[in-house]
Amino acid sequence: MLPEQTPLTELKGVGPSVAARLEALQLHSIQDLLFHLPLRYQDRTRLCPIGSCRIGTEALVQGEVLAAEVTFGRRRSMLCRIKDQTGIISLRFFHFSAAQKNALKPGTKVRCYGEVRGGKTGLELYHPEYQFINHNDTETLPAYLTPVYPTTEGLQQTRLRALIGQALDKLNVTLGLRDWIPASIRETLGFTTLADAVVFLHRPPAGEEIYSSLQALALGQHSSQRRLAFEELLSHRLCLRQLRDQAVQLNAPALIKPEQLRQQFKAQLPFALTNAQQRVANEIDADLQLGTPMLRLLQGDVGSGKTIVAALAALQAVENGLQAAVMAPTELLAEQHYLNFSNWLEPLGLTVGWLSGKLKGKKREAQLQSFRDGSAQVIVGTHALFQDGVEFANLGLIIIDEQHRFGVHQRLALREKGASASHIPHQLVMTATPIPRTLAMSAYADLDCSVIDELPPGRTAVGTLVISNNRRDDVIERIHNACANGSQAYWVCTLIEESEALQCQAAEVTAQALSKQLPDLAIGLVHGRMKATEKSAVMDAFKRGELQLLVATTVIEVGVDVPNASLMVIENPERLGLAQLHQLRGRVGRGAKASHCVLLYQGPLSKLAQERLGIMRDSNDGFYIAEKDLAIRGPGQVLGTQQTGLMNFRIADLSRDAGMLELVKEQADIIAREHIDCIDPLIKRWLGTKSLYGNV
Ligand code: ADP
Ligand code: MG
Repeated sequence: MLPEQTPLTELKGVGPSVAARLEALQLHSIQDLLFHLPLRYQDRTRLCPIGSCRIGTEALVQGEVLAAEVTFGRRRSMLCRIKDQTGIISLRFFHFSAAQKNALKPGTKVRCYGEVRGGKTGLELYHPEYQFINHNDTETLPAYLTPVYPTTEGLQQTRLRALIGQALDKLNVTLGLRDWIPASIRETLGFTTLADAVVFLHRPPAGEEIYSSLQALALGQHSSQRRLAFEELLSHRLCLRQLRDQAVQLNAPALIKPEQLRQQFKAQLPFALTNAQQRVANEIDADLQLGTPMLRLLQGDVGSGKTIVAALAALQAVENGLQAAVMAPTELLAEQHYLNFSNWLEPLGLTVGWLSGKLKGKKREAQLQSFRDGSAQVIVGTHALFQDGVEFANLGLIIIDEQHRFGVHQRLALREKGASASHIPHQLVMTATPIPRTLAMSAYADLDCSVIDELPPGRTAVGTLVISNNRRDDVIERIHNACANGSQAYWVCTLIEESEALQCQAAEVTAQALSKQLPDLAIGLVHGRMKATEKSAVMDAFKRGELQLLVATTVIEVGVDVPNASLMVIENPERLGLAQLHQLRGRVGRGAKASHCVLLYQGPLSKLAQERLGIMRDSNDGFYIAEKDLAIRGPGQVLGTQQTGLMNFRIADLSRDAGMLELVKEQADIIAREHIDCIDPLIKRWLGTKSLYGNV
């Protein structure tokens, strides 16, 4: 029987209630148990002489009971003093019974395991695990380190340990854990077999070798741990690769020139494309001309001009008589794109369609109709675009501005949306902020990558200051001075992102307070709860310079573009992710004036918050900031929760194992060429039968 197909109820002592607890840990099969690795280890394989116990470490000690007595300090406790040839240590119990005390008679011998502390009586072990041992027979010590597993309420460590022990024993006797990494690759990389690695990690054998490996084990860098992480990363990579290969075998419409619309579009722009934009546009062009689907990721820092590149691609589709859909993760961002695309494309005689979850009734029906009959050529919207009931006449290109918020599944769902028997659409994924290379390599392994690595001319680096809210008045004075000199400024109010209502309220209160303190300034307010028309009226007034200070919620994160604005104050920046702060800050520094961003924090700041704001102060480089954010917050946070289905590795940890990704990529290529038989079993083992990525 295969471990991945063997249910846990095969184990002794696993009935429905224990099975439910195991489910809570995502453990469904014997294989899941085998891959449930220890968080850490306890070393009970050697005795520590009491005289060598060090405070703060865990130790196994053994000695003779001198006395057990109840003491009445601040808390009643039982203290049992034991000694060996090297010293004396006290066991302290806050919960104890009379019987327990009586059993600890002077002269009996006990072995205890616990954390050594410095207490009133010198060295103490609080609530150690202990057992009586016989004077004459020298009890044997365990042959393995004791694993400590992540567990859940109602499932005791010892119970889980015993179950995993059973699974390991079964592994030896009846179950195989077949190794799907070819021996030649294992040898090149110096890895053991999978079964050996698993057994080792659950039962690291006592001995000098293991004592010197404890450090590596604690860091997750032991070769057995790396062996497993490698296999998991490899399997994910192979899965994405397979999806890509499947997609590439399909046909996509070859979008050929002429380029009339695009020339018209470029001619109406008030600027020339940067070299980087032109280069990326060419890369996209080359893809679109092939009869296979483009699968491309477009990365670029805030303000690098990704939208125009997307518009050029959309025009190429339209020029070939096909529709292009542009999907954004939030209503606001989608609205902003809708406005941009309408402004750019309607003068060329094109119709831009719109769909969001909020669009209802007749208006919605009319839009859907225009998608169906093809009268809308470019269609902008939220994820509502790939819901049931939305049909396209002839979708040739999908552009996803994803801000990391769409998962692979959604990407694939939309790809399916436009698929007919013979064709699937081309696909361009844009990220609003740069993704660290390591994440891009794993989360987007199915995509080719283009990078816009140049900002449009005339941008100035933004100087960033980290200032305490205690100095709020100084900051307000600063705004006053900047506006007196003809500049404009933003004041961004943040609150917990979930509560839009509170955020808007905070912005209203702040706007009122600032109006009192800065009576000679024209101050405007925008927030997400205002009607679109109200919002754009305020924004327009700010653009025209009629307003000097714009108080806003994070709605201005996207799409606002006022070169004369040279100062931004962000309240409570400690609450936002670095990528979002970077995105916000990108609203200034768009003109010739020296620009500044004030991060007005509410103290006291945690060490971590200080570190994060320090990164913002020291760098304007989105790629660098993203790398740092990854190191500090981990991949789940950086990519957003929607990605967790993908990024939820059992064993691998992208921040820890990033160094392995090049190797993973290289070996995945080898396996795809030379060991095709291994691919499906690996994917099945690590991603399950119902592949996380859906069926394409
Ligand atoms: P992002 O990459 O952050 O999505 P946008 O596409 O929103 O950036 O572009 C940011 C701003 O830069 C927009 O106002 C856009 O019109 C402007 N822009 C884009 N390309 C150029 C260029 N080549 N020269 C000057 N300005 C540009
Ligand atoms: Mg953008």
